[in-house]
Amino acid sequence: MYRKVLTLSFIFVVILLTIGYFLLKNYDKKITSTKITTSFYPLYVATSNILKDTKVEVTPLYSASSGCIHELNLSTDQIVNLNSSKILIINGAGMEDSILDKINQNIKIIDASNSISLLHSIHNEPNNQESNHDTPHSPHYNPHYWLSISNYIQSIINIQKGLLSYEGMSLYSSQIEKNTSSYIDRLNQLKKDSLKKLSPLSSQKLYFLDESFKYFVLDLGVHAVFIPFNFHENSYSPSDLVTVIKAIKQEKIKTLFVSEDITDNLLSTLQKDSDLSIYKLSLLNTPEDSSGSAGLNMTNSYINEYQKNIDTIVKALTP
Ligand SMILES: [Zn+2]
Repeated sequence: MYRKVLTLSFIFVVILLTIGYFLLKNYDKKITSTKITTSFYPLYVATSNILKDTKVEVTPLYSASSGCIHELNLSTDQIVNLNSSKILIINGAGMEDSILDKINQNIKIIDASNSISLLHSIHNEPNNQESNHDTPHSPHYNPHYWLSISNYIQSIINIQKGLLSYEGMSLYSSQIEKNTSSYIDRLNQLKKDSLKKLSPLSSQKLYFLDESFKYFVLDLGVHAVFIPFNFHENSYSPSDLVTVIKAIKQEKIKTLFVSEDITDNLLSTLQKDSDLSIYKLSLLNTPEDSSGSAGLNMTNSYINEYQKNIDTIVKALTP
């Protein structure tokens, strides 16, 4: 009798273990098939940090080296790929306006710009019209908010919140919380270190030629002056260029910071007949090696590139 009970108990335990194994296996499969797409590189870096050491697949919609996606359009392959995702993480603030209407309605969209105070864009500002913050298509905002560490941290919190609210992500909730808080700690340290490095320059004026960096200087306690001229997002008119050259002469600007995607043509035009030194800064929107692949150091690229920007500024302005 005792033997019979023992055998029955053994069989019962084996059945339970087998059921448990298959349930777990299916659950795991469900998680790994939760494909997450990020619209462009800064979000790919942020989301990969948040989902580090999980089995969730994160892919960028465009090649990592695409940079901003103001004017990009989706190819047929990219539309198919995007519509097989469960979640799409977007920058918001008008960055994805050219692709938003191609997205399958079943995909959960996480807008990383939620509750971030956006700056108006000089470039797309409509004539004295008040912008409506609630409009999904908002081309008159400057969308480069990730260049401010504080805003970047807020976008990370938004992404984390969006992911945790997604059914099926609960298996990783503690890992996601741990990853997010350790990444935010590193970013806060980056902010502290950058403030310290720049503090000897607080009496100097820093001249910029790209309004994207209006966000970059928000956290840095520097005296920044912006020359209203955007070559980054659109083409520019010759008369705009004349105004810029005039401003450089009038202000007697010796050092100018521009974004790294400035063309060689524009660089030499600006430097013609002047002793102006121009320094390129990263928009933190492409991989460090700009070879097109995300690279092994992808998860650290925001922090590394940010540090390089700070070091470039310090080097340029320290006599
Ligand atoms: Zn841009």
